Amino acid sequence: MSPTLSQRFLSTRGGSYGLSFEEVVLKGLASDGGLFIPEEIPTLPAGWESEWRDLSFEELAFRIMSLYISESEIPSTDLKDIIKRSYATFRHPERTPIVELDAKRNLYLLELFHGPTFAFKDVALQNLGNLFEYFLVRKNQGKEGKDRHHLTVVGATSGDTGSAAIYGLRGKKDVSVFILFPKGKVSPIQQAQMTTILDANVHNLTVEGTFDDCQDFVKALFADPDMNSTHNLAAINSINFARILAQITYYFYSYLALTKTPGYNNKMRFVVPSGNFGDILAGWFAKRMGLPAEKLVIATNENDILDRFFRTGGTYSKSDSKGAGVKETHSPAMDILVSSNFERLLWFLAYQTSEASTADERRKQACDNVSNWLNQLKTEGGFSVPPALFQAAQAEFESERVSNDETIAQIRSTYQSCFPSNLGPGSAKSSKTGGYILDPHSAIGVAASLRSIERNSGVSHISLSTAHPAKFASAVDLALRGQDGYDFTEVLPQEFIGLEDRESRVTAVGPGAGWEQVREIVKAEVEQELEGKR
Ligand SMILES: *Cc1c(COP(=O)(O)O)cnc(C)c1O
Repeated sequence: MSPTLSQRFLSTRGGSYGLSFEEVVLKGLASDGGLFIPEEIPTLPAGWESEWRDLSFEELAFRIMSLYISESEIPSTDLKDIIKRSYATFRHPERTPIVELDAKRNLYLLELFHGPTFAFKDVALQNLGNLFEYFLVRKNQGKEGKDRHHLTVVGATSGDTGSAAIYGLRGKKDVSVFILFPKGKVSPIQQAQMTTILDANVHNLTVEGTFDDCQDFVKALFADPDMNSTHNLAAINSINFARILAQITYYFYSYLALTKTPGYNNKMRFVVPSGNFGDILAGWFAKRMGLPAEKLVIATNENDILDRFFRTGGTYSKSDSKGAGVKETHSPAMDILVSSNFERLLWFLAYQTSEASTADERRKQACDNVSNWLNQLKTEGGFSVPPALFQAAQAEFESERVSNDETIAQIRSTYQSCFPSNLGPGSAKSSKTGGYILDPHSAIGVAASLRSIERNSGVSHISLSTAHPAKFASAVDLALRGQDGYDFTEVLPQEFIGLEDRESRVTAVGPGAGWEQVREIVKAEVEQELEGKR
């Protein structure tokens, strides 16, 4: 494999250049409001396909991450160890197996929910937690007490991110994690997954309000000079580049698995249920590196800003013609108004389509364009990209919007018609009929896949399955209640049984509280936690 050049990172808005991987991971978000990206997307080593064909998930993750992280930043043996520990918490031997959902149509499901919290976010957050720990241990060698670099992670969640972050960071030295969630608006299982983790460094805060209120508190804390002067804040939402990086692995892993299936004829597409555009962006990185996927299909729910971008020829706008805000759907992890990671794609496509002659000029132009567009999004609610950029996006992406009713109908029809034979441990199916049980997010991917297959028969499709159905009981029940052989208690993994009755800990942020009160809670709880350790 070619030796990696020292990989450097920059902000999409041009405020910072030449950053190391460590700086990017510990900071999360750039100070100019932009997102960190690598200066170059690395290409695959010659012969990768035959050489990587039989690698384990961990070995493959190592090969891929090594292309982005210089050996001088994390020596190979350390990186291997971080990866090994990150995926040892997964229940399935293959970590992210593919399941043959519909052999006739060459449709495969990539199950990403075999990690500790039963959602795809574990793939990234298990790794991110270990990276944080690794960098902190290194920074803190030989330091005692107040001299130690302490990281305060603050994040907002509508469900899945919070528990995955908590499981990624629980018990880790020199890190406190604060998760804000809207009271009564996350599912009971999701809430229990977060609040029953009693490690001293885990802090759950319930907020009277919506997910957006939680997000606003987090943003206010990150912008607060006082908070920043006393605490090293870190972000764990999908703007952290390390999360994107970790997710690249399963695109390669599933592609290589697909090439070993009987119906494979060298043509394939990925279909990805999308919200913040983090998951599918990792697929795009894989494609840019050289993964031979014909297209990436974005599957949205009724919060369809991405789908509207493609249907309108490149207008990215917060509100649809009806001017509505975020809609509550059966797939809450995809309920977003804007997709933060789209900014990264826009940067690369702006760079690609820039007519400037040198790489430096193109870079600068991409940063300027992205800054202007994102400003326009803030002030005017939307912006349009030039036709050349839109065509570049169309060359690699398609989009599909799946409604609430279609989501439920898909869960039902998959249950009635798909009886995969190669299921490993941990997939959900009826023990009586063998019918496969999708979660609502994954169902959106499958519904979009079937439309893409209609137009492209003979092309194999890998549809990403982002959560275990037990996490979204009400939608699954709505779809399957009364169906032959369906019993929700059978869907529940062992790990969820009795979870809601266990001891839990959570701090309530009082009604009407402002972000300053949240700041005081964070400060007091960090102080108390550190006291307890001294
Ligand atoms: C986070 C999440 C998504 C959306 O992923 P993005 O990276 O935000 O596009 C889809 N499904 C589930 C279950 C999730 O938790």
